[in-house]
Amino acid sequence: MITKKGITASPGVAIGSVLVLDTEEYRIPRRTIDVVQLPGQIRNLDAALEASRQEVSELRMAAARKLGDETAVIFDFHEQFISDPKLRDGVVALIEKHHYTAAFAFGQVMNQRQRQFQDIPDPYLKERVRDLFDIEKRVLRHVLGRAREDMTRLTEPVIIVANDITPSQAILLDRQHTLGFAINVGGQTSHTSIIARMLGIPAVVALNDITADVAGGELLVVDGTNGIVVANPDKETIARYEEQRRNYERFAGKLRALRDEPAITRDGVPIQLLANIEVPQEAEHAFESGAEGIGLYRTELLFLATPRIPSEEEQYEAFRKVAQAADGKPVIIRTIDLGADKLSPAMGPQHDHNPVLGLRSLRYCLLHLDMFKMHLRAILRASVEGDVRIMFPMISSVMELRQAKATLADVMEDLEEEGIPFRRDIPIGMMVETPAAALLSTTFTREAAFLSIGTNDLTQYTLAVDRANERVAHLYSAHNPAVLKLIHQVIRAAHRRKVAVSLCGEMAGTAIYCQLLLGLGLQSMSMAPADIPSIKRVIRATTMEHCQMIARKVMQFDADRQVLNYLRDEFRGLDPEDQS
Ligand code: PEP
Ligand code: MG
Repeated sequence: MITKKGITASPGVAIGSVLVLDTEEYRIPRRTIDVVQLPGQIRNLDAALEASRQEVSELRMAAARKLGDETAVIFDFHEQFISDPKLRDGVVALIEKHHYTAAFAFGQVMNQRQRQFQDIPDPYLKERVRDLFDIEKRVLRHVLGRAREDMTRLTEPVIIVANDITPSQAILLDRQHTLGFAINVGGQTSHTSIIARMLGIPAVVALNDITADVAGGELLVVDGTNGIVVANPDKETIARYEEQRRNYERFAGKLRALRDEPAITRDGVPIQLLANIEVPQEAEHAFESGAEGIGLYRTELLFLATPRIPSEEEQYEAFRKVAQAADGKPVIIRTIDLGADKLSPAMGPQHDHNPVLGLRSLRYCLLHLDMFKMHLRAILRASVEGDVRIMFPMISSVMELRQAKATLADVMEDLEEEGIPFRRDIPIGMMVETPAAALLSTTFTREAAFLSIGTNDLTQYTLAVDRANERVAHLYSAHNPAVLKLIHQVIRAAHRRKVAVSLCGEMAGTAIYCQLLLGLGLQSMSMAPADIPSIKRVIRATTMEHCQMIARKVMQFDADRQVLNYLRDEFRGLDPEDQS
């Protein structure tokens, strides 16, 4: 039995058999084979290594022709690595000793090599880890050949164990058979975690090399509430977690009963609870969970699920579906926020050294105007189907917002000329997710119809901590006093200028923050549909006066630890039964 601590990404408990996912969706179960099959597996391995070596050699020649010898040398490393007899011997030894399949044995050896490279202090060699992933994918493609299994059609319930899952993989996963996720990398607000929460699947991230610690078919417990996984649990551990799972489900059932109750504090202040969605199908679930509207529709997921840019018609259909499901309730469509950890194959190779600070989101759109205009057309066309509003992400200067608005005005003119109906007075809002936007919030209240605070990115940029990097996850906290000051500043600026303000980062759906946010003056929040009931429960159990007292106290603290301890105590005092 091994117990590992990671970061809680999506609550709940799952117990099931492991399916290890390779970075390219390969399923590589640990299968042992009969002794008579061993020579076949070794032949398969040799053929795959040879085919990969030839491919690399052709790539090297093509690169030399197009880009010169300097670039082509990158492939020398690949070629040498694949041809190294020690690589083959290591894999063959595992096949012969444990009777593993060639694919599983090769994956094990590559995992071990990747770990060795990661530990090398030399930055050049450390960087080669990426090449190793590349090599692994290439060889496995040949080893698995047609045996590659389809992740979208699982045949039995499994816990997915992977280095990471891209948003598009997560969206396409067979949800019915996916019990839980245990992931090597990431943080609480990385997009894998956000999507796990959206799907309501228990998940733990930042588990380091969980992919190397467990093998396909082994039993794994994922305790998403406490950020723990247990591999090969003994009988008592299984019984304990079964009990925890039943408790969690009972508790979730109680919360669901709140669905039709209003989100109103004990002293009568109503709070607007909106939902964050990633795909149109999610809208219905959001309204079933009691959402009063869609506060954030992350449209980029449409772009991640296909290798090409979705057509205007496909985009329009998706937006229309959401607007219709909302049945007159507000729907805030955020324009595509691609880049950083949300890369679409249609974007082509991205060369940003620092993708989070690079050409992402609105910056990318403003440089790819054809694609952006098509996207805006689709949103505007859907605007006549309900109370559709538009929101621009990642703004850090007034000029960017003006440029985005000017592009929207151009698109409106085109539609008008073509006689296509749209809502001319569509409210135009923006995300406040860079420290620059927060500091300039008063200015922005003159330019935007509404503001929505994106604490996932705001925390990342304020603290200079990559939200998806597990190695600095201990430094990432939305309750850091610096972040709280910026949030407070934005709320005050919006109130002074009577501009609507909401908060749509993961902070909004995190129950311990709820009283603080209300106390800071927030009366609208947008969150994963699954989080709505637990937030509603806090709102209905507290008073605005108490929340304001909490906020006053918290704003005097200097350290995030103090803030967290105090908020935890306040939360426990609210209802000792709560386990979320
Ligand atoms: C945010 O940054 O807080 C946000 C809501 O946007 P995303 O998580 O999609 O970056
Ligand atoms: Mg963001």
